[in-house]
Amino acid sequence: MIKAVRGMKDLLPPETARWHHIETIARAVFRCYGFQEIRLPLLERTELFTRSIGVNTDIVEKEMYTFPDRHGESLTLRPEATASVVRAFIENRLDQGAEVKKYFTMGPMFRYERPQKGRYRQFHQINAEALGGDAPELDAEMILLLLEILERLQIKNLELVFNSLGCSQCRPAYLLELTALFARGLRDLCDDCQRRSAVNPLRVFDCKSKTCQELLHQVPALSDQLCDDCQRHEQRVLELLDRFGVPYRKNPRLVRGLDYYTRTAFEVITTELGAQDAVAGGGRYNGLIRELGGPDHPAIGFAIGEERLAALLSQQQDPIPARPLLFIAVLGRTALDLAFDLVQAVRRQGYVADMDFADRSLKAQMTMANRRGASQVLIVGDKELAARQAPLKNMQSGQQQMVSIEGPSEILAALGSETEGVYGV
Ligand SMILES: [Zn+2]
Ligand SMILES: [Zn+2]
Repeated sequence: MIKAVRGMKDLLPPETARWHHIETIARAVFRCYGFQEIRLPLLERTELFTRSIGVNTDIVEKEMYTFPDRHGESLTLRPEATASVVRAFIENRLDQGAEVKKYFTMGPMFRYERPQKGRYRQFHQINAEALGGDAPELDAEMILLLLEILERLQIKNLELVFNSLGCSQCRPAYLLELTALFARGLRDLCDDCQRRSAVNPLRVFDCKSKTCQELLHQVPALSDQLCDDCQRHEQRVLELLDRFGVPYRKNPRLVRGLDYYTRTAFEVITTELGAQDAVAGGGRYNGLIRELGGPDHPAIGFAIGEERLAALLSQQQDPIPARPLLFIAVLGRTALDLAFDLVQAVRRQGYVADMDFADRSLKAQMTMANRRGASQVLIVGDKELAARQAPLKNMQSGQQQMVSIEGPSEILAALGSETEGVYGV
């Protein structure tokens, strides 16, 4: 037996119905906020990620799915979407025009992590990116958009965590301060942090080690040392969140694991999945487009983890698989053609209809109809074929009525206005 690659998971029905629901809601909300879909390749040149995410990040150091192609070029399965969106933005000259370009994309991402519960090497994200705007209103809009998706999905008990990571004016001085602190207390840092503290001191904030965290208490927060512009930006974003009644918690330790963030950084976290987990996160990345060879355009984005969202949703609602409204049970080969005609006619009217082609007993077909959750079963055999009439059985009430099988009209009338859907979508 050939098994799936380690860390890769099959997504099966009825779970797929839940995912469909999530994506349908997300698309509807994106549309209201003026976001258009962008679909990008899963494979990119490795350089794109080392330059954007940063060489000294966990992702680039140990988690990328990187391999040489047949010509020896280093390629990487995308570990996140923002770098690819920026690459496409520059390459396709999407920067033309003064308006903010708003894109969303959904799909698989890949990280070569040690597989553990709830974490896979192929996972899925819903991403939103707004490129070409630096107004704090845009930051607030992105957060409102994210929260609206979660709200329309009726996800409960979420917390918005907010921080500002400064800019190229105010962050360097802070990083020097951190570096000096780490040089003094190097022995108190864990091995990982000793190594990365010199090149990427902010990463120490992500460390779970107690001694590393204690050392960090000796420095003031970056958010207390912002330049005037960054302070004004942050204040305005928070003022807008207040204005829209969005509760948030400021967390000066929220740094996000990537190098490219500037100013606004945020996460939406939940405690519903056991440990405290981020369901979504994002931030502003004002220098990234220029860094990757494009124009000096500011931008902001976020990513939602679809696995976590689906897990949260599964605690609240069961997905409803597509249920046939009509199942046609066929007795004998001669009635099969007529039954097939009817099933097609009913489907083409937008109803879910099904039948079986294997010439099984009536009992076996009724069991099948029951298991599929059919609401009506039409029974067609030689006798019915001759009479041009067949019994239609309502599976809930057990009541039976004779309907004409000359065409689908009487069957459709009996199905009535019964609607079927997934979570009512
Ligand atoms: Zn600043
Ligand atoms: Zn550490």
